[in-house]
Amino acid sequence: MTTSGERAHAGDDAADERAHVAVIGGGIAGLAAARFLARGGASGGSSGIGTAGTGSTGDGGGRGGVRVTVLEGSPAVGGKLRISEIAGLPVDEGAESMLARRPEGLDLVSDLGHGDDLVNPGTTSAAILSHGSLRRMPAGQVMGVPSDLKALAASQVLSPAGLARVPLDLVLPETPRGDADVSVADFIGARLGREVADRLVEPLLGGVYAGLIERLSFESTLPAVAAAARTHRSLISAVRGVRDAAPKDAGPVFATLPDGLGSLPKLLTDAIIADGGTVRTTTVVRELRRRPDGWRLTLGSARDPEALDVDAVVIAVPAAPAGRLLADEVPAAARELDRIEYASMAIVTLAYATTAFHRLPRGSGYLVPAVEGREVKAVTFSSVKWPHLRDKAPGVIAVRCSIGRFGEEHTLQRSDEDLKAAALTELATTCGVSELPLEARVTRWGGGLPQYNVGHADRVARIRAAVAGQQGLAIAGAAYDGLGIPACIATARAAAARVLEHLERRGELSHGSDGQGDRAGDRAGGGAGDGSGGGSGGGSGGQAEGTRPQPGDPVHDVVGLQGEDSG
Ligand SMILES: Cc1cc2nc3c(=O)[nH]c(=O)nc-3n(C[C@H](O)[C@H](O)[C@H](O)COP(=O)(O)OP(=O)(O)OC[C@H]3O[C@@H](n4cnc5c(N)ncnc54)[C@H](O)[C@@H]3O)c2cc1C
Repeated sequence: MTTSGERAHAGDDAADERAHVAVIGGGIAGLAAARFLARGGASGGSSGIGTAGTGSTGDGGGRGGVRVTVLEGSPAVGGKLRISEIAGLPVDEGAESMLARRPEGLDLVSDLGHGDDLVNPGTTSAAILSHGSLRRMPAGQVMGVPSDLKALAASQVLSPAGLARVPLDLVLPETPRGDADVSVADFIGARLGREVADRLVEPLLGGVYAGLIERLSFESTLPAVAAAARTHRSLISAVRGVRDAAPKDAGPVFATLPDGLGSLPKLLTDAIIADGGTVRTTTVVRELRRRPDGWRLTLGSARDPEALDVDAVVIAVPAAPAGRLLADEVPAAARELDRIEYASMAIVTLAYATTAFHRLPRGSGYLVPAVEGREVKAVTFSSVKWPHLRDKAPGVIAVRCSIGRFGEEHTLQRSDEDLKAAALTELATTCGVSELPLEARVTRWGGGLPQYNVGHADRVARIRAAVAGQQGLAIAGAAYDGLGIPACIATARAAAARVLEHLERRGELSHGSDGQGDRAGDRAGGGAGDGSGGGSGGGSGGQAEGTRPQPGDPVHDVVGLQGEDSG
């Protein structure tokens, strides 16, 4: 990681008269926010979102931007983006791909000058393990919700009784929900029968949230389907409407970097430092206090605390630490943040000799519904999904197995050897792999995934409303509007816009000779131009912070299996 030691920066802090913004948390949201702040806003990128950008790279970094200090508690930046080698191959330990049908991730990589490096999956054809056998994901589904009854029948994912229940949706009266949110299991079960919820939707959402469909919010986890279901009596018709509205030739669904998505934090860190910013690792922020002109942060250990005074702050940490930081100054937000639950999970990565497989897998992997009672919930054949991995080591096949759902912490309270054994058993049972892997690695993500439970959107609106009353304070990250990488970047962009606008109003933005600083807020703005917005703008008069999941957005699939339609 670029941040060798505790502090990495290029310039002379004392001589830098620009407004100073602290970003707490060096995950993708914090690093992206720091990048946008240092540049005075977000670039336009390939999609044309945003407005006149700063161009791709190196056109006078920091012009119109602010001085940024990223404070990361752990020894390395990246958060859930991390990479390490297994059998000589760089394989992601956390997030491994980003949705390419939302622009934010691709734009950020392009802005860093690496847009041409992006690679796409060789296949996204995924299977589902149902009634003990691998079945093809039915064509026409959106996050597991079916629209093509023939394809559903052909897939044999459902039992005959489960399949017979599905078309009742076409004749049943409307399922009332008013303005209230409902659980995924309740709504989909009521329309299509419980088997669809358990055997199709649960494994897909399980891959993203590791959550329980009885608790997950229909509105927040399936926003496009939930919105369409408000205008269609039948859920099948609603999903058909979502599919019809989707662009037909939208290109690849996912993208990553050739050295893994875990290489993105280093690219961002280098860019932040090049713009005169500072990135400090092993620096936990313990307290946040308002000052007349800004904020005071308390860093480091209780025995040897350090105070850092800044003009504005972006909090880009998970909900629990965000709640602790806001407990004194914004207790209303802190209370709501405390109620966002997290699921823990582990990834077991195995590197096999290709000869271990009697027949090489052709699809990108498979999902295992919870009702199957297996320990592993998803398997990704990384070397099949990503041709660049196969090319790097043709004799090796890398496989990722995900273990752990919300409320199943006991499955993770075992030794690494036990978790590896669970993965080996899964591959032996389903794929007939009897050889031992060349190497195996266990990565634990304790409290890794926020749960968007029923009422999540209202909770986020209340958090935003409370934060909006605070000058020079913004929040970003996976806890709010989507936990996929592009969604996190969108919150970062909106948070940066809010802070830049606040500083601009106070006349504290340094203005470049071309006047870019004057437009900083516009450029960074997550407002109408890029389809974001939605959060409560609130008392500071600043821009709406954050983005609600947009009805048209496909939901990304964390395990890297195509969510929308693999048919
Ligand atoms: C195993 C796994 C696989 C995933 N796969 C994908 C995928 O393929 N595609 C996808 O789009 N998404 C994926 N996701 C989701 C996505 O990776 C995350 O939602 C996203 O990376 C979260 O970014 P973040 O910046 O909000 O938070 P984080 O990555 O959690 O970063 C927050 C940072 O804040 C730091 N911090 C916390 N408290 C403090 C403090 N008090 N002071 C200073 N620093 C602090 C933490 O150490 C951490 O580095 C995956 C998630 C997991 C767990």
